[in-house]
Amino acid sequence: MIAADLLSKVNTVTIYEKNATLGKKYLVAGKGGFNLTNSLDGIELANKYTPVEFMENPILDFGSGSLRKWYSDLGIETFVGTSGRIFPTKGIKPAEILNKIKEKLKLQNVKIEYHHKFTGFDENFNIKMNFKGEHKIIIADYYIFALGGSSWSVTGSDGKWDKCFREIGVNIIPFESSNCGININWDNHIVENHEGKPLKNISANVAGTKLKGEAVITNYGLEGNVIYPLIPKVRELLKKNEKAEIVIDFKPDNSVDDLIKKVGKAKISSKDYGKIFNFKREQLALIKNYSTKEEYLSTELFIRKIKKISINVESLRSIEESISTVGGIDLKELNSNFSLKKHPNIYTIGEMLDWDAPTGGFLLQGAFSMGHYAAKSIVSL
Ligand SMILES: Cc1cc2nc3c(=O)[nH]c(=O)nc-3n(C[C@H](O)[C@H](O)[C@H](O)COP(=O)(O)OP(=O)(O)OC[C@H]3O[C@@H](n4cnc5c(N)ncnc54)[C@H](O)[C@@H]3O)c2cc1C
Repeated sequence: MIAADLLSKVNTVTIYEKNATLGKKYLVAGKGGFNLTNSLDGIELANKYTPVEFMENPILDFGSGSLRKWYSDLGIETFVGTSGRIFPTKGIKPAEILNKIKEKLKLQNVKIEYHHKFTGFDENFNIKMNFKGEHKIIIADYYIFALGGSSWSVTGSDGKWDKCFREIGVNIIPFESSNCGININWDNHIVENHEGKPLKNISANVAGTKLKGEAVITNYGLEGNVIYPLIPKVRELLKKNEKAEIVIDFKPDNSVDDLIKKVGKAKISSKDYGKIFNFKREQLALIKNYSTKEEYLSTELFIRKIKKISINVESLRSIEESISTVGGIDLKELNSNFSLKKHPNIYTIGEMLDWDAPTGGFLLQGAFSMGHYAAKSIVSL
């Protein structure tokens, strides 16, 4: 959509979408906290992407400040919320934003063709489309593909475009889950008594990658903003068949010494831990579950333990239910302007490429920056 906006100022543009509407995943993203982008900008923002070199130019060219201005010009004001995430002003619904974008595109004579499914390339590398059973060939000077990753297929982003690109010699990396929950072999009583409860203000560490935030206990394991950024590390360990352990610190703002001092020399019973350390039942249940009896009953050992509860990660949640995916078009196939090396009039952008970023507005920002960059490169040709 952002590419169409820029290109339509100088070119004739048509968007083809297989669904009956545009931006289904954009609307899904808007259902929870709608992080349009993040308050980080410039190189700090670019550093959130893996691989960073691939995103540096598009982000430096069109970062979060530019995206917020683009929304503001559409009449969508934004504000910086918790942990730097940027949201639309309260009361603005995601569908309203999408409609404003579509209205702008219409005013700029962008044609939107629905129910058009891309099915591959013909022998001249023109585009084959299926429109309600009818086969069409689309011929244009430039093609920009933004077909999405492979999660939440109900939105239309099913990753099934991969074979069409393989057929024209483009290498595709298999899709994998990113920004997803982790499977843990919980004891039954954790699920029975604590499913759905949040573990607030914890820090989590996987093989040296550590951050603070919140996780929620689910019937399969853990999910949440402290988990998602650890997924690349967990994925890497699991792929090498190595043990993936998440180490939780239930008191990240206090050192062991602080906590020992707080307790002093008083003899305390484990029944008082909740009151003394300000722990809820679910926190105590997890700590108890991952401690020996001796560790739980000795106050000093308990204090040491709450700073590092090690939990084994069995696997990642499925691709389908992940917030985003990695895999897709191999970045080695691309020029720096997102055109394919083998077919320079074909551009590919967004989640269909093999890059990664955490949640917090970085995914949409990445997709928008790439769209803007690809379109700008075509406009300047
Ligand atoms: C639950 C959830 C919450 C999220 N929340 C946020 C958030 O708050 N902030 C954030 O930054 N990101 C969020 N994301 C991620 C973000 O929505 C995606 O990264 C982003 O939408 C990717 O944009 P895209 O343009 O690459 O692909 P998509 O938005 O997936 O769009 C791809 C489009 O291509 C169409 N298409 C696919 N195949 C074909 C075909 N063969 N022919 C024609 N059309 C086709 C699809 O129907 C779809 O409309 C969330 C994702 C999920 C699932």
